[in-house]
Amino acid sequence: MASQSVTRQDKRRETTLFVPDLVYFEPGALAYPKGQQIMGWVQSQGIEYRMTTSHNRILDLPGATDTEKYRIAKRTLVVGVRKTLTFDQSKPSAEYAIPIGTGCIGHCHYCYLQTTLGAKPYIRVYVNTDDIWAAAMRYIEERKPEITRFEASCTSDPLSIEHITGSLSELIERMADQPFGKLRFVTKYHHVGPLLPLRHGGRTDVRFSINSDYVIRHFEPATSRFEERIEAARRIAEAGYPLGFIIAPIMWHDGWEDEYEKLIMTLAGALPREASERITFELIQHRFTKTAKAIIEKRYPKSKLEMNIAERKYKWGRWGQGKYVYPDERANRLKEFITGRIGEYFPASRVLYFT
Ligand code: SF4
Repeated sequence: MASQSVTRQDKRRETTLFVPDLVYFEPGALAYPKGQQIMGWVQSQGIEYRMTTSHNRILDLPGATDTEKYRIAKRTLVVGVRKTLTFDQSKPSAEYAIPIGTGCIGHCHYCYLQTTLGAKPYIRVYVNTDDIWAAAMRYIEERKPEITRFEASCTSDPLSIEHITGSLSELIERMADQPFGKLRFVTKYHHVGPLLPLRHGGRTDVRFSINSDYVIRHFEPATSRFEERIEAARRIAEAGYPLGFIIAPIMWHDGWEDEYEKLIMTLAGALPREASERITFELIQHRFTKTAKAIIEKRYPKSKLEMNIAERKYKWGRWGQGKYVYPDERANRLKEFITGRIGEYFPASRVLYFT
């Protein structure tokens, strides 16, 4: 967190690649080439490592209090073998979530992983990518000739750990040969270098998560700066990838109209004209559950994140616990305003959904 705020003050300094403070290995992971490769990297960096019986049960994570354990967990990498090869659904952005990692190095106050990962906020990566790919192929075969889309960022930000695993690059190149499959991922990081020379065949949608200056400044510590993400988006567009932006979470805050207009205008000015013509946008309003509110208030007690239940609308959820979204009047104003500005600055783009 501290180094991130320094980064934000010095616009010229690049947000650095993530280097964990501590790494755990499942012994079985070392039987795979990727496990060996990660071990080699860990040793070359001089990072402390330990062995663990299961990537789902780290019992000796350092830290005296829950808050301290959480901070340390966010800088801890766990290398394991993925056993569950049934993929979760991932509507509306894709048919399935493809699991190459779980957990994220970012500290976005609003992130839903705070709730879904519960007491396991450390970053898990899986070395058996052949098995994961074989499972993806079974889903593709089942749905053929329908296209099956796989979302690689449901439970992590895969670009933030790509320099350690190489798993995203592997998926991108494999998907290049699948006429009935598509890969999608979204990121708040800018380290796209390894992806640029890959043979992607236009079958991977790269999306950048962007937001108003207010939201990025107050709620997204330990992620790449806005300017870095936009520059990365430009490079991705030049490399011929389908490019998109997710504006999420869209927040109602003082001056939101000016800020979101500025955001879309800045994007339009920064991207090559040809790219602007085939961009997609996904729009997601801010929401939270009661559980998330309690966790966020504990982990980020000084956060300015607005979570006033009295000013929200309750939306029933699929798994029993509903979410608090903006009341219809606010949600509609956000949707109409932002969709309108996108239409103005990116007339040939597509807004895939507002939710
Ligand atoms: S970068 Fe994405 S996944 Fe990571 S903490 Fe932020 S919102 Fe969550």
